[in-house]
Amino acid sequence: REVYVEGSFVSEHEARISVFDRGLLFGDSIYEVTAVIEGRLIDNDLHLARLERSLGELEIPMPLSKEAIVEVQTQLIARNKLREGVIYLQISRGIADRNFGYAEDIKPTFFAFTQARDISDTAALRDGIRVAVVDDQRWARRDIKTTMLLAQVQAKHVASQRGCKEAWLVEDGFVTEGASSTAYIVTADNRIVTRANSRAILPGCTRRAVIKVADQLNLVVDQSRFTVEEAQNAREAFLTSASSLVTPVIEIAGRAIGDGKSGPVTRLLQKTYLDLALGSPAQ
Ligand code: PLP
Repeated sequence: REVYVEGSFVSEHEARISVFDRGLLFGDSIYEVTAVIEGRLIDNDLHLARLERSLGELEIPMPLSKEAIVEVQTQLIARNKLREGVIYLQISRGIADRNFGYAEDIKPTFFAFTQARDISDTAALRDGIRVAVVDDQRWARRDIKTTMLLAQVQAKHVASQRGCKEAWLVEDGFVTEGASSTAYIVTADNRIVTRANSRAILPGCTRRAVIKVADQLNLVVDQSRFTVEEAQNAREAFLTSASSLVTPVIEIAGRAIGDGKSGPVTRLLQKTYLDLALGSPAQ
């Protein structure tokens, strides 16, 4: 695999990052993940807009223009002949001797790589997944996509020990979001409920695209909080992220949702979103 580090495309075996990089020492860095399907970047404008916002919130300068970042992504797709998978981008504040404080003029470190994997045709999309419920232990600025991901790593490990593919994080009795996805339920009166954007969750790019799809389909989207109990009693549940698209949730903390299968609203959103993302008209 060829990866991008600081201006060059090199073999993954040759890529080097300093031990003094603040991304390593402090988690002083942000990241983005864009899906690639049929060799094309999905919702990439939204991901680059969020990348710019995350950097702005941390007062880290953009390492390159958005156009130049797209060129790096395009090169990575071509050099690795990537048809389907993801492109990961990471930008840290930069390299300096270890000190909490930092100089204003430090130069950010930018690297990127591809991961080939199935996205558009998976068992999870067809059959749905189980999610575990875990306490949300993260910090108070979850709207910034930082690489400080230990709470998510732990939550996903607990989920995996319980035979689940994702953890839904809970704070004050309400679901915030998934460890790496946005959480939704569909109520008995066919409302799609997902938490409103705030500092409590990451504003999902797929969330934004799927809400637009729901509006076009004249489905009602209610941007409000829901409890674990409401989720367990919902007619349907699903999650979204760049790499999992619209994935049905068929079980929450051991309790089957609806009839325990992917529901009709979820399937409609899944198909329409994927058709739109790929640029072919929805039927
Ligand atoms: N919430 C969290 C905590 C995430 O880490 C992610 C993605 O990794 C999402 C939501 C979904 O965001 P997106 O749809 O932009 O991938």
